[in-house]
Amino acid sequence: MPKSTPAHKTNSSKGELILIEDVRVLLFRKSIRHSYIGIHPPHGEVRVTCPARTSRAEVVAFISEKLSWIRKHKYSLQRILPETPFKFQNGERHFYFGKAHTLNVFLGNHRLAYFHPETDSIRLVCREADSTERRAAVVYKMYFSKLKEVLTILLPKWCTRLGLPLPQFQIRSMKSRWGSCHTNRNKIVMNLELVKYDLSLIEYVLVHELVHFKAPNHGPNFKQLMTEYLPDWKVRLDSLKRGIKS
Ligand SMILES: [Zn+2]
Repeated sequence: MPKSTPAHKTNSSKGELILIEDVRVLLFRKSIRHSYIGIHPPHGEVRVTCPARTSRAEVVAFISEKLSWIRKHKYSLQRILPETPFKFQNGERHFYFGKAHTLNVFLGNHRLAYFHPETDSIRLVCREADSTERRAAVVYKMYFSKLKEVLTILLPKWCTRLGLPLPQFQIRSMKSRWGSCHTNRNKIVMNLELVKYDLSLIEYVLVHELVHFKAPNHGPNFKQLMTEYLPDWKVRLDSLKRGIKS
């Protein structure tokens, strides 16, 4: 039975804080008929909205029933999104293909980001007045083209091994999944955030999505194929789940 601690009254517009086991929930009471739960990016804040006259015991029961769902979605958001948003300033450490590199910012009249092997750093050229978003966009443009380069090599290699025709692939920023497979459109989607992870983990996600062309769900057939083609897939999956990038 999940344990709950007494609610702490907070600013009513910000909701009432309830702690159930390791999960912090913000409770909002409104004139609605049914309770609902939402998990909000960027940090996986859990918000429950319930009818105004719901008792505390009912609220706790409602949340307790959904704890495993909450954990699954909350932590999947947390492990993909960085805890502290970067400002893209000189000296920050950014992960790139499984290794943390220093970001060196240079001011110039153009905008460009590239990996500089001699200093093992990521170099960002931008204008002094550029906002965090603008700087991030320059770095992410580089991330996108580098991840695309890697996948352009890995994808045909794995399609040959698996005996699959080459699907289309797309790279997108996604908040709660590493990849997805759309068998009906012969397409896979890979999360741009994977560029921060080691190649072996990018490869795991790619093989996972490709295996879905042969086994649509995660049943025994899927697991058997994964073991056949990528014997250490469970270790790689575990690293991804725990947010270990290297
Ligand atoms: Zn899957």
